[in-house]
Amino acid sequence: EKAQALASRTADHLRSPVICILGHVDTGKTKILDRIRRTNVQDGEAGGITQQIGATYFPIDAVKKEATKLAEGRQLDYNVPSLLIIDTPGHESFTNLRSRGSSLCDIAILVVDILHGLEPQTKESIGLLKARKTPFIVALNKIDRIYDWDAQPHNCPTRDSIAKQPRHAREEFMRRVRDAQLEFAEIGFNTELYWENEDPRKTVSLVPTSAISGEGIPDLLMLLLALPQKLLTDRLMFNPLLEATVLEVKVIEGLGTTIDVILTGGTIREGDTIMVVGLDGPIVSTIRALLTPHPMKEMRVKGQYLHHKEIKAAQGIKISAEGMEKAVAGTQLMVVQDPTSEVEMEYCRDEVMKDFQTILTDVDKSGKGVYVQASTLGSLEALLEFLRSSKIPVSGINIGPVHKRDVTKASTMLERGKEYATILAFDVGVEKEARELAEDAGVRIFTADIIYHLFDQFTAYMEQIKKDRREQVSDEVVFPSISRILPQHVYNKKDPIVVGVDVLEGILRVGTPLVVKHGAEWLDIGRVASLELSKKQVVTARKGESVAVKIQHKNTEHIMYGRHFDFQDVLVSKMSRPAIEILKQSFKEDLGREDWLLVVKLKKMFDII
Ligand code: GDP
Repeated sequence: EKAQALASRTADHLRSPVICILGHVDTGKTKILDRIRRTNVQDGEAGGITQQIGATYFPIDAVKKEATKLAEGRQLDYNVPSLLIIDTPGHESFTNLRSRGSSLCDIAILVVDILHGLEPQTKESIGLLKARKTPFIVALNKIDRIYDWDAQPHNCPTRDSIAKQPRHAREEFMRRVRDAQLEFAEIGFNTELYWENEDPRKTVSLVPTSAISGEGIPDLLMLLLALPQKLLTDRLMFNPLLEATVLEVKVIEGLGTTIDVILTGGTIREGDTIMVVGLDGPIVSTIRALLTPHPMKEMRVKGQYLHHKEIKAAQGIKISAEGMEKAVAGTQLMVVQDPTSEVEMEYCRDEVMKDFQTILTDVDKSGKGVYVQASTLGSLEALLEFLRSSKIPVSGINIGPVHKRDVTKASTMLERGKEYATILAFDVGVEKEARELAEDAGVRIFTADIIYHLFDQFTAYMEQIKKDRREQVSDEVVFPSISRILPQHVYNKKDPIVVGVDVLEGILRVGTPLVVKHGAEWLDIGRVASLELSKKQVVTARKGESVAVKIQHKNTEHIMYGRHFDFQDVLVSKMSRPAIEILKQSFKEDLGREDWLLVVKLKKMFDII
């Protein structure tokens, strides 16, 4: 009795951890969720597992029933009231569980297909988890697909299942585990099979699972409890301050526009004055109804909600309130204690918009960059983070579908750089008129619902533009160079001149106009028609290299080696202001620091201001 009282007291103080599932497409995220949800259902009682808004509520007794199949599970303290597992797997919901740059997701399950290893979106997920410092465990899923695996029924603990496998299946399994570990190590993560993991703070636990047979599901649930006990108890202390994030904005028949909210701290009540982020500024409203799905109903039945007077964290709830049409998903929700206090209202307005402000700081001050659009603040933030790490500048952002005015904004970039007259649209639609305008104006719109796809499309486009541009100006560009003629290597004195040279400074490139200095005058001796280095045609020769140069002049006959110039003259690239502009714009990376210093030197020599 005493123990029970103690347990209920801790349960009062610790809230439920919020859990997200991430990973590459088709690794089995949805299936794992289904499997977890159906746990205990087969013997006729659902163990109190209830569907919430955007999440499944998993009471501690149901978790315990599974977890105590394991010896470790029997030693745990079951001191959290439940697990709250977010229903929509993937990036989207994880990135929306955010508040001022940190995540409201307490633990993540990263699902990896044991036969495929780490796939692009797995790495993207890891990037997000790392950025938000969210602890995670890895479900190495689909173990039942290992050759000759003898799948064990009824949610069998992994090690019991492994013990029953034929030797070669077990060996194959171990090989796959090692492969995955290597891949994790390559991106800087130590991993161990969870039963060999001695320090979950530093090493990520791997849990082999099968969402089909349920193997490893008890292990997964047990770890979801064990991890908070080791890592998160402070985080899970019941926080009386309200902490809530808007997951989705949805129109519901009979209710109008509602917001789906995950409450991770505090208590929320019907009639509370709330403030949320709107596209045009903070939205203030009053909670008309606090709703959760009816527990007795099938989860897919709509329109049947249970009304609550108040709800305590952690829970997923639907809020019906006036004026939610422009609310932005992925932002925090605040409750105004005293709406009559102008001071508090002001404070809340600032506070609630902070998320939006932080994101705006990502917009490039130079005003040069791509236009970025996403469905929610969370996904916008994730995309911006990705663009930042890829050094792609951003000039503007918006949330929601791409409208004409977005295209107009992006089109202002056309003068600054064609590649920036681009809209990267993540997980949003593009209106027909917007698409038409974009086509007319020359604005490119890239759409994708996976960040790296968007990024790949854009980088390929940027490369192409760069290549085109370089080709266009290839005849006009002048690389800086100074070369000395080798008198013993004069092969032809005129028409064309062919001499051997040492490149003293810079880069001698085919197409470069060369000059020599005669008193105060510069004499044109022609353009580099070709270069030969060790009997091979080359496009450029760098400082320190010796090459044979063929020089052609429009009026070849007028220029002759030995008469107009000789080995005592140095050959210099003829610089001009437009040529320097082209260098800067399209060939920046081709020149090193020394080469740029030479450009400055030549600029002075040619009196270019
Ligand atoms: P998601 O895209 O990550 O949500 O993946 P799903 O849960 O939709 O699963 C993708 C496919 O893999 C489906 O056909 C599943 O039936 C299958 N699948 C998922 N988990 C397992 C597993 O553990 N074993 C086997 N054999 N198939 C699985």
